[in-house]
Amino acid sequence: MVRDCIFCRIGSGDAPGVLLYRNEHCFAVADIEPKAPVHLLVIPNQHFTYLGSLAPSFYTVLGEMFAAARTLAETHGIAGSGYRLVVNQGENAGQQVSHLHLHLLGGRPLDAMG
Ligand code: 5GP
Ligand code: ZN
Repeated sequence: MVRDCIFCRIGSGDAPGVLLYRNEHCFAVADIEPKAPVHLLVIPNQHFTYLGSLAPSFYTVLGEMFAAARTLAETHGIAGSGYRLVVNQGENAGQQVSHLHLHLLGGRPLDAMG
């Protein structure tokens, strides 16, 4: 738990956020500024800043995050139409929150990546 991290605060209940999913590894919330009709964030319970700071012993968490995204895509009705999973890492990717997270975007055709 990092006290000034918004995702740690949401995960611990210190900041508001409706948890759409939770297990022992990760949780999910709707993005506060959605870029698509479905825009969810899958967030590890434990604070990892970057993929590069994740020890191999925690790679299980990555698999759990993808499994959660798959479940959420199904429950939000976008598994059939398609969706995008995004992990922003660092400055050039525009990472705003320094707590590793997976964006799940869908519900409309998404622009080509560039
Ligand atoms: P990043 O750019 O770091 O990959 O994405 C961070 C995301 O977190 C942004 O899309 C932003 O809208 C979202 N976000 C920032 N603060 C909050 C918050 O307090 N609650 C929720 N639900 N999302 C947030
Ligand atoms: Zn955190």
